Amino acid sequence: MMKPVISFDLDGTIVKPDFNDLIWLKVVPSLYARKYGITFKEAKNRVTKAYSGIGERDVRWYRLDFWLERFQLEVDQNELLEKYTDKVEVYRDVLPVLKKLRCNFRMVISSGMSDEFIAVKLRKCSLEKYFDQIFSAASLLEVVKTAKFYRSICAALDLKPGSLIHIGDHYQMDYLTPRRVGLDAYYLDRDHSHCRVKKRVGDLVEFAQKMGVSIPPGSS
Ligand SMILES: [Mg+2]
Repeated sequence: MMKPVISFDLDGTIVKPDFNDLIWLKVVPSLYARKYGITFKEAKNRVTKAYSGIGERDVRWYRLDFWLERFQLEVDQNELLEKYTDKVEVYRDVLPVLKKLRCNFRMVISSGMSDEFIAVKLRKCSLEKYFDQIFSAASLLEVVKTAKFYRSICAALDLKPGSLIHIGDHYQMDYLTPRRVGLDAYYLDRDHSHCRVKKRVGDLVEFAQKMGVSIPPGSS
């Protein structure tokens, strides 16, 4: 029998959001400040205004190449990401959980970010070896994590929506939307902000327990 499939969000679920913040809120504004000869503070102001002008419901928001070009920064996206690879941080509960779950499940990544951003993160701790397939909403379909994205993942994996499990930390895009499509979605609430959500877990160890897999304390 085929192993059931779990789809994982990446940022805020597997890796800490700090890397994204570093790139979007420090590196890009610094490059901007240098290019236009203004202070970092002023550059950050302009850059974040431009980000919110586009907003997270627009796929361009997730694309570093789009912003580098828009601000005319003349930097190569991959070179820039390479430079900061060592800043990627994986949550403590990730490796023990992935090691255990891989015995009983096939695992995939379903992220809103572009392929390049996903690749640089999955290289950390050789995370890529745990995942059979990577689905990038921004690169694949040029959409954010919409119903269409989740339907296309089910189609690619040849699964009925009800047999795909998904977990992620964005209440709308990782929980409400996939549930609407029929996925068995879990909301990862690391900050304990949505305690009343029905299929809510506080960390990945708790999620593994829901999958019938127990993680001994202190394992890594
Ligand atoms: Mg996330």
